[in-house]
Amino acid sequence: MAWRFGPSGIHGKGVFADRALDPRAALFRVHGDLVPWSRVSQRGYQVWRDWYVEPAARSPSRILNHACQPSCEVTARLDIRARRRIAPGEELTIDYASVVLWEPWRMACACGQEGCRGEVRAWGRSPEEVRARYPMPLFSFVERGRVPPGLPGPLREAAARAAGPPGARGRGSPGRRGAGTGTPPGPA
Ligand SMILES: [Zn+2]
Repeated sequence: MAWRFGPSGIHGKGVFADRALDPRAALFRVHGDLVPWSRVSQRGYQVWRDWYVEPAARSPSRILNHACQPSCEVTARLDIRARRRIAPGEELTIDYASVVLWEPWRMACACGQEGCRGEVRAWGRSPEEVRARYPMPLFSFVERGRVPPGLPGPLREAAARAAGPPGARGRGSPGRRGAGTGTPPGPA
C-alpha cells in the first residue's frame, strides 16, 4: 500500500501518502455497493443520477477529504490516482465537485489552500477552469449515453442500463454528503 490513515489538518481523519508518488500513480479504487440515493450515506460517490457507490467500511475512499487543489483525482473507472508528485506524509485529497452530479449540493470549504473556493458545488455548478483540471467523471459519460471503457463488471452493467433510453433514467437526487451545510464531512 502507498497510503495510511492519520489525523487530518483539513478535517477529522484523512488518508496520507506513506511514500513519494509520481503524477498519475494509481492508489486505490473506490469499491463498495452500488446503491440508490435513498440508501446512500454522505460518503457515497455519485455515478449517475439516482445511483451512488457507497464505499466499503475502512475503505480509504470513504475517508478521503476534499481540497480545492487536491493531490489526487477520480477517474471515470473510479480509480483514485495522484494528480501531481506527492511527498511522503502528504494528505491525499480529491475535489468533491468531481463526485457530485446533484446540482443543489453545496459544501462550505476551509481547506486553506490558495484558490480555496469557499463553497464547493456540484460538478455542473463548478467553474469551468475547475472542471478542466480533472478527468471526465463517470456520470458525465452516462449522461451522454456512454459507458467508459474498463469499468468493473456490476458497475458496467448498471451504467449501460442507465446510459440506455432516456425513459429508463431517474431524476436528480440528493445524496453524497447531504445538503452540504457547515463543515466538510469527516469519518463516521
Ligand atoms: Zn477549499
